[in-house]
Amino acid sequence: MGPVSVNIDINNTCNLGCEYCRVEKGDSQLDFDRFKSIVDGHQETDYFGVGGGEPMLHPQVVDMLGYLFAKGKTVNLATNLTQNVCLLDPALEPFSDSGIDQFTLQVNLPASNAELYEKVTRTRNFDEVVENIRKVSDDFITLVSEVVYRGNLSFLCKG
Ligand code: SF4
Repeated sequence: MGPVSVNIDINNTCNLGCEYCRVEKGDSQLDFDRFKSIVDGHQETDYFGVGGGEPMLHPQVVDMLGYLFAKGKTVNLATNLTQNVCLLDPALEPFSDSGIDQFTLQVNLPASNAELYEKVTRTRNFDEVVENIRKVSDDFITLVSEVVYRGNLSFLCKG
């Protein structure tokens, strides 16, 4: 019997610079054939997590998601939802009758307001990300998570 779940980090590239990030960033990308062999090597595992880095920056992320859906796997994609969001709908359309119910989009929102987002990520994408969450949550089960750490605790405790 295999593991209950398998998480695959498909790259270590990210466009954000979160203060608390523990990813050793670079330009490594998991080869699609290697990805397939990991999935095929866990035939008894139903649940797969796909992450990075920022997985939507991997040029074959759509193919990878499609491969998992074609195998009937339950998939959680962990993303900061700032890159290539428009790729998700067409990527998942072929599986709308089956795999889509088994897909969860986990959005890492590094902060809950624009001021804090800029402080934590060193970017100004907050409004765009919130808009993207609105869009994707119409179509996909969407979970939003925020890391709480020493650097943002005082912001979170305001009024
Ligand atoms: S979005 Fe994730 S991978 Fe990217 S910098 Fe932030 S914590 Fe690191």
